[in-house]
Amino acid sequence: MKASRHCRYCLQPIVAGAKVCQHCQRAQRLWIPQIADLISLVVAVMTIGLFVVGYFQYQAARTDRNEAAKALAESSRALALAGSLADENRRLVASQQAMQAQIAKSFGELFTDICMGLGGSFEFGSYSCVLRNGARIHLQVPAPP
Ligand SMILES: [Zn+2]
Repeated sequence: MKASRHCRYCLQPIVAGAKVCQHCQRAQRLWIPQIADLISLVVAVMTIGLFVVGYFQYQAARTDRNEAAKALAESSRALALAGSLADENRRLVASQQAMQAQIAKSFGELFTDICMGLGGSFEFGSYSCVLRNGARIHLQVPAPP
């Protein structure tokens, strides 16, 4: 056994022309480990790249999720506010209608009293006061809302 060279990995003497080291079993041809190393390097770079991309995607997703949660909370508050404003508006409309009805009733009663005082007759259907000389005074009733 001629030991003319050494293993490029474990540095033990090996037979000249041996393709594999008899000590560490590693291939001695140059291109195989080089390609293997290159593939390992590419895989390592891709793995790191995927981790980096994954991290940024995670950050972006977390930001989006936080913004979505914030928007949801704001829209919930806006919805609650709109609901309470609608309730308040309904109360105001109801109270305005009641006031208008009360004013119309009072005004109608006052008009009727004046009509009677003038000796006329009040026509309920047409809201008119017909005086003794035939003159007609019309009461303009506000249209119901
Ligand atoms: Zn070796």
